[in-house]
Amino acid sequence: MTTNNDTKNKDQAIQNPASTTLESIDSKTIKLREVCAAGEGWMAEVKKNQTLRIIDTEGNQAVDTLFISCADIAERYSATDTLAQNQKLFLEMGSQLFTNRGRVIATITDDTCGRHDTLGGACSCESNTVRYAHDTYPMHSCRNNFMHTLATHSVAQKYDLNLRHVGPNINFFMNVPITPDGSLAFDDGISAPGKYVDITAQMDMIVLISNCPQLNNPCNGYNPTPIELVIYE
Ligand SMILES: [Zn+2]
Repeated sequence: MTTNNDTKNKDQAIQNPASTTLESIDSKTIKLREVCAAGEGWMAEVKKNQTLRIIDTEGNQAVDTLFISCADIAERYSATDTLAQNQKLFLEMGSQLFTNRGRVIATITDDTCGRHDTLGGACSCESNTVRYAHDTYPMHSCRNNFMHTLATHSVAQKYDLNLRHVGPNINFFMNVPITPDGSLAFDDGISAPGKYVDITAQMDMIVLISNCPQLNNPCNGYNPTPIELVIYE
């Protein structure tokens, strides 16, 4: 679902590539570099030992992300295994990302943001109506992005992926602090323009992203913006 605003954001990002955020990468090792427009879905394969850099080009942009093993699509990122194994409620530099079989699928090897969420889940039409108002049901959501990308992307077709492969996800750059009484708060972001996170694959993996289109809470600063994706070795 592309709006005029999305197109404008995408054009701005292409005209102003996040060059300073690529200084640490040898350009000859870059295998893929793409912009995902505000509010859109994205998908790619990342081979073992390759690194995916996600760049929050304009700041305060939640990036809902799932990882699935190429060798066996029944093995995928598990939020509960990851929280238990890391013994921490937030993801950060050095966090290992575990699968539902207790194996490490990827590791966060660089991070200029500082903290990422894996508790808040992905927004959907249904959760919008519960959290906000019934008239938010038709608004674009991450679950819609996951469904649309899985139904249309060549990587999803190659691996015969569908909605059954969607589970609890990571929200890169999203700030979900825990209140003293144990509640989750969807708070104003701690990210900023040009912040990035590097995720190094420990096995060949498929990455599915929804560049969150949410407009009803501050996870995107009420203004969804483009992200840049770089795969390098
Ligand atoms: Zn969302």
